[in-house]
Amino acid sequence: MKSSLELIFHTIRQVLAGKQLIDNSNKYRFMCLSAAFIHLIFCISMGAIGASILCYYNIFIVYFYCFLGIVLTNRKKFRIIMVLFFIEVEFHSFLASVLLGWDWGFMLYTIALIPAAFYLANSLTNRSKHVAYSIWLSAFVMVAYLAGSIVQPMVNPMYGYLSNTTACFCIRYFNTFIAFIILLTFSALFALETSYMENLLEKENLKLGIEASYDPLTRLLNRRSMTRYMTDEIEIANDTTGKFCLVMLDIDDFKNINDAYGHDIGDRVLVALADLIKTEVRESDYSCRWGGEEFLLFIHGDKQETYFVADRIRRKLEETPVKNKYDGNFKVTATFGIAEYKSYMPLRTIIDEADEKLYYGKKHGKNQVVV
Ligand code: GH3
Ligand code: MG
Ligand code: MG
Repeated sequence: MKSSLELIFHTIRQVLAGKQLIDNSNKYRFMCLSAAFIHLIFCISMGAIGASILCYYNIFIVYFYCFLGIVLTNRKKFRIIMVLFFIEVEFHSFLASVLLGWDWGFMLYTIALIPAAFYLANSLTNRSKHVAYSIWLSAFVMVAYLAGSIVQPMVNPMYGYLSNTTACFCIRYFNTFIAFIILLTFSALFALETSYMENLLEKENLKLGIEASYDPLTRLLNRRSMTRYMTDEIEIANDTTGKFCLVMLDIDDFKNINDAYGHDIGDRVLVALADLIKTEVRESDYSCRWGGEEFLLFIHGDKQETYFVADRIRRKLEETPVKNKYDGNFKVTATFGIAEYKSYMPLRTIIDEADEKLYYGKKHGKNQVVV
């Protein structure tokens, strides 16, 4: 008992914080059982003042709402519940206004249904139609209200003699209060659901942004995000005296690795090299998978400092054998080209320069760092 109460309070807190949606079954069950409770109050009060037709009608409606809130809700017939709910509220307001008179405030319930139309239709499965649905329901509410206000003065209320009694006064204020509560509840729920959706969208956007910036295999930056970071860093470097270098590195004879051990082992080599780069490069620097087995590093500092970083990676790569299931371990090496940035150099130029150094290293024995 205690834990289910705790669960309910926890859910309410989550909904109020915009972190959780109310599940449709709970939403409809709560709505129908609250309506049943309100009709039970009407049933007792109508019985007490001698409005027997309304008392019997309300007995029937209490059962009707229990049926909607339990049987139809369990069967997830939400659309049918919604339509029946609207018809019943309109019919009851109309009937009570015609039998008792306009000043009892029963027609106020019809107005309170408009935010309910938008809130409830919002959770229909066919989302493209929900606005049209809400507008149709609201139009129905409006027509029923106008019809009530036209018909009511034409008829002599059957229980007209009860007007201006204390009962009439009390029920009018009860109806006004409950109608406002309904208005407020549905508007607040609508606002909370919107805020939940906004939170969700923000999180998804963030996730998509991260996905779009990283290479899925190595989890290093991809070419697009690296280009963005480098462009920003060039602007900073032009405004300050900060120095940076680019390192272009390419695995040696990678085709042979793929051919000898298979593409999966080739991929494992790429991931192992990326992990090594991540541990060797500072957080303020950037590392990226530039293309197939080519990596580009952005290192803050001059040529000497960058050389130390690059050569450390080269040595560690060479010293870390890769396991394979055919003939034990094999060695992987890479060649590195370093270019230092000079003021107002276009990005393309410094990349080409690092590429040229790399090419030079490849031509002159591989497994080396060329500055
Ligand atoms: P070099 O020392 O001159 O760089 O020789 P290389 O064989 O490494 O050079 P080359 O550029 O000719 O070959 C690169 C190979 O990398 C070709 C391609 O099949 C492979 N490759 C590219 N992307 C991937 C990948 O994502 N996974 C794997 N396993 N292989 C890849
Ligand atoms: Mg290569
Ligand atoms: Mg290559």
